Amino acid sequence: MENIKGKVVAITGASSGIGEGIARHLANLGAKVVLGARREEKLKQISDEIIIAGGEVEYFKIDVTVPKEVKAFTDFAVSKFGQLDVIVNNAGLMPLSMINSYKIDEWHHMIDVNIKGVLHGIAAALPIFESKDSGQFINITSVGDRWVGPTSTVYSATKFAVRAISDGLRQEVSRNIRVTLVAPGATESELPNTISDPELKEMAIDLFRKDLLPASAIAKAVAFAIAQPSDVDVNEIVVRPTAQKNL
Ligand code: NDP
Repeated sequence: MENIKGKVVAITGASSGIGEGIARHLANLGAKVVLGARREEKLKQISDEIIIAGGEVEYFKIDVTVPKEVKAFTDFAVSKFGQLDVIVNNAGLMPLSMINSYKIDEWHHMIDVNIKGVLHGIAAALPIFESKDSGQFINITSVGDRWVGPTSTVYSATKFAVRAISDGLRQEVSRNIRVTLVAPGATESELPNTISDPELKEMAIDLFRKDLLPASAIAKAVAFAIAQPSDVDVNEIVVRPTAQKNL
């Protein structure tokens, strides 16, 4: 694919699910990928497999809620590969619950990872992009960035916020810096594990997680956005399983 080979792409939340799928797909297409997340063993295992498949990869342990760790992550990408072309702000969690369950710690955690984590990624990569006047942000939201229903109130709020942040960022940055939002529908991953209420987890799996996209479907959307000519900014892509009609 044009415009991907040789690009340095840093991906948060690359230790499983969608982030892992994006890393593997972009590495296959010749990008140099830098994987970030908290589970170092998983990052090492995925990196080893990418190397065996002929890809170029580095990994770095980060918690996206800590701004200086995210900054160290993007600096690490530049130190290893000489530049940074794309940051994929993907790390996220979805502990669904009814508001009157008062899972206040979970609300805080979602806001810290899903919103502040993206802002930390922006703060870390923007100076690098501005110094060379080029670069691309890819923020992974959800169909929940435009839909809200019972139990998804806080999760959807975090994704609505990232949609707003992405569009504001797009307008503020130079014409040579691109901002893309990719909104997945139900996709195979470890995401339901973040639901702490066992009954709700079972119900969510029953209702929403029967017809799942493979992570590669989201990775292909990300690749499409990166592959466009540098003056073409793909701002939003929504990817649902064909069976997902109600949200
Ligand atoms: P997974 O649970 O498989 O992946 C989540 C990733 O985020 C993991 O790599 C995890 O790594 C990382 N992560 C979580 N907390 C932190 C943290 N504090 N610091 C760094 N990394 C962190 O789920 P998905 O792949 O599904 O989720 C990826 C994104 O896709 C999320 O933003 C999610 O909201 C979004 N999404 C997913 C959908 C789906 O159906 N799967 C649908 C719509 C959107 P580690 O634990 O090692 O830190």
